[in-house]
Amino acid sequence: MTEANLAPAAKAPARLQAVRGMNDVLPDEAALWERFEGAVRRVLDLYGYRNVRAPVVEPTPLFVRAIGAATDVVEKEMYTFEDKLSGESLTLRPEATAGIVRAAIEHNLCYERGQRVWLTGPMFRHERPQKGRYRQFHQVDVEALGFPGPDVDAEQMVLLARLWRELGLADGIRLTINSIGDPAERRAHRAALIAYFERHEDALDADARRRLHANPLRILDSKNEAMREVIDGAPKLLDRLGPASRAHFDGLTALLDEAGLRFEVDPRLVRGLDYYNRTVFEFVTDRLGAQGTVAGGGRYDGLFEQLGGRPTPACGFAIGVERMVLMLKDAGRDAGRAPLAYVVHAGAAAAPLARRVAEMLRDAGHAVVLNAAGGSFKSQMKRADASGARFALVIGDDEAARGVVGVKPLREGGDQLALAAGELAPWLAAHARAGGG
Ligand code: ATP
Ligand code: MG
Repeated sequence: MTEANLAPAAKAPARLQAVRGMNDVLPDEAALWERFEGAVRRVLDLYGYRNVRAPVVEPTPLFVRAIGAATDVVEKEMYTFEDKLSGESLTLRPEATAGIVRAAIEHNLCYERGQRVWLTGPMFRHERPQKGRYRQFHQVDVEALGFPGPDVDAEQMVLLARLWRELGLADGIRLTINSIGDPAERRAHRAALIAYFERHEDALDADARRRLHANPLRILDSKNEAMREVIDGAPKLLDRLGPASRAHFDGLTALLDEAGLRFEVDPRLVRGLDYYNRTVFEFVTDRLGAQGTVAGGGRYDGLFEQLGGRPTPACGFAIGVERMVLMLKDAGRDAGRAPLAYVVHAGAAAAPLARRVAEMLRDAGHAVVLNAAGGSFKSQMKRADASGARFALVIGDDEAARGVVGVKPLREGGDQLALAAGELAPWLAAHARAGGG
């Protein structure tokens, strides 16, 4: 026994709360998550992406090398700790691509052919919590490993557009693309950028000045409106691409045109992680206020080598699940996961029949909630209604004696009828179809 356990019993123990920026998802909202995840699975399946799973904890150097030491994520957002036994520095993953590439190298996944893979799960970044921005958040992460593009780049955008349609959100989300070129082009552009921003240093904020020499590309991503003009005038990498990068970008836009996918080219679009090259893209909405990017990604042709693997061109993206759920909620999407029937029963003879009927219907594939913890018929009927079920199945001692079940429609009106227990499953199947439930 610890001292805490021996403390005087008079005072109620303090209530513990979730860590700031880390959310509980309760059943009503979780139903929307499942709706989203179901659509994701269906769409990814249509394009031949296969699920993978990777650890939430990785060695810290993985993220420093992949994401880049001079990025916001690595500089100030990672949950890093020392393993108490080994002394190794470990980090809760702030994003999924680095871990997937680590796993692909470790298991030689792309040895024979390219691989389309995806995973979903929690990511961790120590950011200031606000609507659409949390410290534990969730992503669906999709990667095409071993493909030089631009066909897979376009395919991923087409896939995402299909997902938005599937979710009924297509008209609220638009696509923005850019090319940030290859390393040599980026170096030349970087030098031009530094020279330009040095000439305009008095127009830069403190953050931008600090980044000027470490990561000038990130200045272009600044949300400070006061720097809008100076950023607009900066040299654009898109105007200075070499022939191979140019051809890649032109190939991508031609494929998007062919697919009938509308997009905007934004020469200022850069992403917050260093591993990207050539294609970068974001799907953005105006419906969520400041946190408008619902999915973002791009090409990372150098990452495998950077992490000790063989050259493997690749392209991927991540969807922010919380932001998608917010959009579904705002659009009034009902997850519609109510049971088909709620079984109301009272009396010693009714209970065994109620249990038998519930199991019988589940055998037939119907979702059934069996009333628990007793209660009068009236209070049980209230619970039946609150469950969202389409039918209440009513069993009292009288029904039990006759071997029948009362069926009361809860949504579409109509009188209660009595059916023999054995007729229930086919009757419900017919009516579940008719009602589209
Ligand atoms: P943002 O500019 O919104 O910070 P980001 O560029 O940091 O996004 P990525 O690392 O590309 O984001 O992650 C992809 C997606 O994951 C984002 O578009 C967003 O939907 C979601 N996301 C990123 N960070 C958070 C967070 N802290 N909380 C909730 N969702 C997030
Ligand atoms: Mg961010």
